[in-house]
Amino acid sequence: MRPTTFYDAYVFDLDGTIYLGDELLPGASDLVQTLRERGKLVRFLSNNPTRDPAMYADKLARLGLPTPVADIANTLVTTTRWLGEHHPDAVLFVLGEEPLCRALREAGFRLSEDPAEIDVVVASYDRTFDYRKLQIAFDALWFHRRAVLIQTNPDRFCPFPGGRGEPDCAAITAAIEACTGVTCAVSLGKPSPLMLAEALRGHDLDPSRCLMVGDRLHTDIQMALDAGMDSALVLTGESTRDDVAARPPDQRPTWVVERIDHLLPEGRTNQRS
Ligand SMILES: [Mg+2]
Repeated sequence: MRPTTFYDAYVFDLDGTIYLGDELLPGASDLVQTLRERGKLVRFLSNNPTRDPAMYADKLARLGLPTPVADIANTLVTTTRWLGEHHPDAVLFVLGEEPLCRALREAGFRLSEDPAEIDVVVASYDRTFDYRKLQIAFDALWFHRRAVLIQTNPDRFCPFPGGRGEPDCAAITAAIEACTGVTCAVSLGKPSPLMLAEALRGHDLDPSRCLMVGDRLHTDIQMALDAGMDSALVLTGESTRDDVAARPPDQRPTWVVERIDHLLPEGRTNQRS
């Protein structure tokens, strides 16, 4: 089963949906080009905070899918925006990588490793995580009892080609929660509606005319379900048909496709006009 008409807007996850590792997934380029030629709004969303949107634009261009930076949003963007709106003067401790730290500094935040002055502990996908960082977070949250804990994204792992992966933000958050007893106050990645708002920012669109496309049921598809949007699961990443079948019928994606270009209405696969 596949759509019979076009939607007005398409929001795509990146990892496992548009590409896997350093290769575009089959049909991704054709689909996106066809949608753009038809004047459809195309946006890209990633929960991964280890790159900034310019780095994603570089990667997409390198893979043969040139994309304006403004069409890409990730949790680095939503985290910076949310902190600016809710904790504009906060001193931050970031368990994260340099692009996230740089974006927060550029937004005017002060980053600190002194637990006595830390207002917000930001847990993230951090491949430089160590015991020293855990101790600082512990002291800020448990000893000084003044900081709040937030996380960039709720993912347990980041999928890699060949069925491998890397521990993601949920592991860092869990370590902090386990030792402090503090519960993470907010998560800035999919399925949070903040991510969808970031993707469609500046466009007044009827959600029923938008399609969310991704490879993960509990992030990409859940966000669409919560927003009342149609959704499509592509089977090129994490979630499987069995995972879909295990969900109650009202918690399943609108479409399930083997290849992303099967989202083009029937008979349009190789027709751009
Ligand atoms: Mg994905």
